Amino acid sequence: MTVRLYDTQTKALVELPPAPAQVGMYVCGPTVYQRAHIGNAVPFVIFAWLRNWLRERGYDVTYVHNITDVNDRIYEVAPGASAERARAATEWYLQDTASFGLEMPDAQPLATETIPEIVSLIEELVAAGNAYESGGDVYFRVSSFETYGALSGQRPDEVEEQEPGALKEDHRDFALWKATKEGEDTSWESPWGLGRPGWHIECSAMAEKTLGPEFLIHGGGLDLVFPHHENERAQSQAVGRPFAKIWMHNGLLRFTGAKMSKSVGNVATIQEVIGEWGREAALLFLMTGHWRKPLEFSGETMTAASVQVESLRNALRGETRAEGDWQELAAVLDDDFNTPAALALFHRWAREGALDELRRGLAVFGLGSLGDSVEAPAEIVVLARARTEARAARHFAESDRLRDELAAAGWEVRDVPDGFELVPSA
Ligand SMILES: [Zn+2]
Repeated sequence: MTVRLYDTQTKALVELPPAPAQVGMYVCGPTVYQRAHIGNAVPFVIFAWLRNWLRERGYDVTYVHNITDVNDRIYEVAPGASAERARAATEWYLQDTASFGLEMPDAQPLATETIPEIVSLIEELVAAGNAYESGGDVYFRVSSFETYGALSGQRPDEVEEQEPGALKEDHRDFALWKATKEGEDTSWESPWGLGRPGWHIECSAMAEKTLGPEFLIHGGGLDLVFPHHENERAQSQAVGRPFAKIWMHNGLLRFTGAKMSKSVGNVATIQEVIGEWGREAALLFLMTGHWRKPLEFSGETMTAASVQVESLRNALRGETRAEGDWQELAAVLDDDFNTPAALALFHRWAREGALDELRRGLAVFGLGSLGDSVEAPAEIVVLARARTEARAARHFAESDRLRDELAAAGWEVRDVPDGFELVPSA
C-alpha cells in the first residue's frame, strides 16, 4: 500500500512516490513574541510524527520548521525591543517543543538569518513584473499571477483584501518589503531603502533555501491557508519554482469553545500543559483527533488522555502473549495518517498482549517511554527487600506492614519468580 495524504489545493488524497524517495517537508512555525500556547505545538508535533512514520516506511525525510522572528506583531508587543524579545521567545519555543521528547526538526531557520535570500527573491519578482516598489515598500502584483486564489479556493477577481495600504495598485496586493517606520528597532538595507520583509516572503525564501525550488509537503495550521500560504505559493510559482506538491493543513485546537489564537493570550502554554499533565498525556491527547479536524482541549479531555496513558503503561508491564500485525498499523497510518485509528489499535494490542508491536508503534509517536521500567529509589528497594525476607520467614504481619508502607510511598511491590518487582502506583 502506498502512503496517501490529503491536499488542500486539490481537495483529494495524493499518493506519495514509492519509497525510498526524498520527502522535503516545510512546516510553518510560530511568530515568536511570548511563551507559545499549546495550539502552536500542534503542527510541530503532527509533522514530527509524520516524519517518524515516513522514515519507518523507508522515506528519506527532511523536516524544516521555521521561526518567524520578524513580523508586525513583534514590533507591537515589544516596541523598541523587538529583537531582544524575538530572541528570548525563540529560545522559549525551542525549549518548549523539545520538552515533548520528539526528535527535533532537521532545520529550524530564522527569518532574520535569511534576509539576503529574501531580498534576492523580491528583486527577481520585481524584475519579472510580479512586484513593484511604492514609497519604499514593495508589493506583490496579484493580477500578474493567473492562478492566484487556487489554494484557498477563491476566484482571482473575488479575492478579499488582506491588508490595507494606500501605496498599493490594487486592493488585493500584499507587501513583500516594508519601509522602516518610526519606533521599529530592526531594519535592513535593501535596493528599496531601509526596511524589513513581509511575513509571507520570509517563508517562501526559507523553504527554498532549505529544501530547494521543489519539495513534496508544505504544512501548517488551517488558519494559514489564506493569505499566508496562498501568498507563499504565488511568490514562488510566479518566478517558476514548482514549490510544494501537497499542502497539508492541520485542524486547530479549541479551548473552552473558542479557537486558541494569539489574541486570546496565554490560555494554556506548552510549558503549563506539559508541567501539569506530562508530555506523554499531551502527546496521546493529540493522537485522539484526526490531524485535519479541530480538537477540543479541556481538563476533561486531558484527564481522559492521562487515563489512556496509564492503561497502556500498565499493559506494557504485563507479559507478551500475542503477536500483532504491523500491517494493520500501516493500513491506517498510510491512509491519510489516521492517528485515532492507530490509537484504537494500540489499545487492542494492549488488551491482547501484543507488546512488541505496541512498543514499536508507540515509539513512532514519542511514547516508547511508556514501556520503560521506572527505577525505584534505594530506600524503596530496601523496604521491598525487607518485605520479601519477612515473607520468606513467614512473618506475614510484618510483610503486610511493609507492603502498606511501600504503597503509602507510591510503590506497588509484586512477587515474581526471582524476587520482587517495584511498580509505581497509578
Ligand atoms: Zn509560513
